Amino acid sequence: PKNNSENEHLLKFRKEHLGKSLSLSYQNPLKIVRGQQQYLIDDFGQKYLDTVNNVAHVGHEHPRVVAAGQRQMAVLNTNTRYLHSEILDFAEALLKTLPEELSVLHFVNSGSEANELAMRMAKAFTGQKDMIALEHGYHGNTQACIDVSSYKFDGKGGSGCPEHTHIIPLPDAFRGIYRGEGAGAKYAKHVEESIEELKSKGRNVAGFIAESIVSCGGQIDLPNGFLGEAYAFVKQAGGVCISDEVQVGFGRVGAKFWGFELHGVVPDIVTMGKPIGNGHPLAAVACTKEVAEAFANGMEFFNTFGGNPVSCAIGREVLAVIKDEKLQENAAEVGEFLKAELNALKVKFPILKDIRGEGLFLGVELCDDQLNPLAAQTNYLANRMKDFKILMSVDGPDHNVLKIKPPMCFSKENAEYMLECLKRVLSEDFMS
Ligand code: PMP
Repeated sequence: PKNNSENEHLLKFRKEHLGKSLSLSYQNPLKIVRGQQQYLIDDFGQKYLDTVNNVAHVGHEHPRVVAAGQRQMAVLNTNTRYLHSEILDFAEALLKTLPEELSVLHFVNSGSEANELAMRMAKAFTGQKDMIALEHGYHGNTQACIDVSSYKFDGKGGSGCPEHTHIIPLPDAFRGIYRGEGAGAKYAKHVEESIEELKSKGRNVAGFIAESIVSCGGQIDLPNGFLGEAYAFVKQAGGVCISDEVQVGFGRVGAKFWGFELHGVVPDIVTMGKPIGNGHPLAAVACTKEVAEAFANGMEFFNTFGGNPVSCAIGREVLAVIKDEKLQENAAEVGEFLKAELNALKVKFPILKDIRGEGLFLGVELCDDQLNPLAAQTNYLANRMKDFKILMSVDGPDHNVLKIKPPMCFSKENAEYMLECLKRVLSEDFMS
C-alpha cells in the first residue's frame, strides 16, 4: 500500500457500504492486486501460492484466456438473439467432453443460475416439486438453491428444511452414520425411503441433486455404489438426476474430465460454473434431449448475458488450454503425489486422520484418536501456512478439513514446498 492507512480506509468503507454478510479471509485481510498462474500477489509485491482458488482453473489471468476475451470484446458483445458462430463453436467443444446423452446446452452466468435452471427443468419434466439433496450440500445463492442447500438452511441464519426438500445423511464413509464397506448402499437407501415417503403423500420426486465429491461437506468422496444406486431409485420413480459439477468438473479430479464419471453414472442434467470461464462469469447447464424438450413448453428462456460471444470465446479458450497444457493429466499426477505424501505424513502426525478426494480436489481431516474434530488446530494450520506464503482454506460441518483445490497448473515443486511447510507447522506446539 502507499501506507497502511489506505487499507484501513478500504476496510472501513467496505464495512459501511458493502453487505454485512460478505466475509473476508484472515484476521489481517490481504489486499490482492494481481494474479499469475498458481500465485496471487499482494500490495507489498509479496507472492502467495494459491491452493484455494479452483475458479482460476488454468491459472490466474492466463494470457491466452485474457487475449480471447479482449479480442472478442473489441469486436462484438450481444445477446443470443442473432446467429453467431462463437456460441456454437463453444457448445460443440463442450459437448465433446460429455456423454452423448447430454446433447443440449443452456448458457448462464453463475453456478447458482445453473442449478436454479436445472431445478426448473427437473420440475418441468416431472410436473413435481420435491427435491432430494445431501446433508451439508451447497448449490448456490438463489432462493431455490438455498432451499436445497442444508449447509445454509441448517446453519446460522437459516430457517430449516423447506417442505419440498428432502435431505439424506451426508454419505461420509469415514465419520458419517454408516462407515466402511457397504456404506454406499446404506446411504442410497435413504433416497429410496424419501421417495416412498413422498409417494405415500401422493407426491413424487422432481429431482436429486448432488456433487460427486461433496465440497462444503468437507471434500467427501461418495462411497462406492452410492451414486449409481441413488440415481437408479430416482430414475425408477421418474425423477431427474442432477450432477453439480460447479467445483469438481473440467478435469480437476484427474482420472476423468467430470466428477460423475468416477462413479460410472450418466446424469440427466449436469451443471457447471466456476472453472468454465477461469474467473469470467460464465456457467452452463447440459441436459438430455428429453429434459430440454419438456422445458421448452412455450415459455421463452431468455438470459441477457448468458451465451454472449465474449463469454463463449473465453470458455472455448479455457477448454483448449486444459487440453494443450495437459492440465487434467497434471491434476492426476500431482494429485496422486500429494495424496501419497499426505498419507505418509499421517504416520508421523496422527491428527491427520483422513486424506481424501481425487486429483487436485483433496481434503485432509484433522481429528483426535477418538475421531473428535480438531477445528482449532485446522484453523491454526491454515492461518500459519499464510506465514509461509501459502493460502489454504478450511471447510466441513465441523470446520476440521483442510481443503486443497489450487489452479490446475499447480506443480510437483509447489506440492513439495507445501508439504515441507505443512511438516514444519505440524511440528509446532499448538498442533500436538
Ligand atoms: N454449486 C457448488 C457446488 C458451489 O460450490 C457453488 C459456489 N460455491 C455454487 C454451486 C454456486 O455458484 P456461484 O457462486 O457461481 O453462483
